[in-house]
Amino acid sequence: MSPSENCVFCRIVQGAIPCLKIHEDSAVLAFLDIGPLADGHLLVIPKEHFERPEQMSEEAFGGVMKVVPRLAKAVLRATGADAYNVLLNAGRAASQEVMHLHVHVIPRRHGDGLGYRWLAKRYEAGRGERLAQEVLQALKSV
Ligand code: AMP
Repeated sequence: MSPSENCVFCRIVQGAIPCLKIHEDSAVLAFLDIGPLADGHLLVIPKEHFERPEQMSEEAFGGVMKVVPRLAKAVLRATGADAYNVLLNAGRAASQEVMHLHVHVIPRRHGDGLGYRWLAKRYEAGRGERLAQEVLQALKSV
């Protein structure tokens, strides 16, 4: 996909907008989030413009995820946090605001007050089995 003049993360990749860079390789950039939910909140992005994982090859998405373990280790060590969330918002309904794929690494501590509503439900009888079949069927053609 082509970089967009209007895409803030493409502009960061191009060096037109500054960032606090934490990692860079040929395909991936990681930097501090400008509006952190916690100290050390990182964003990991592909340099190429993609909006969402399903638009990427396994290799390209794998390249983004590959650096997460080391970055997480470093950010935990630097901040003293003992936990973190790895979060990817894909699509407006999932709270994605910057439409250039990014993985959040968010340091967490007990009592930090962060969190989100986890409104777990239960499948009605047979619904889970039907859904599993439908997804398995779809998996054959994607
Ligand atoms: P999301 O809701 O998943 O799309 O999150 C977008 C994230 O990008 C937010 O956490 C913003 O604080 C962050 N962000 C937006 N602009 C910049 C920027 N110029 N540098 C660093 N982070 C940014």
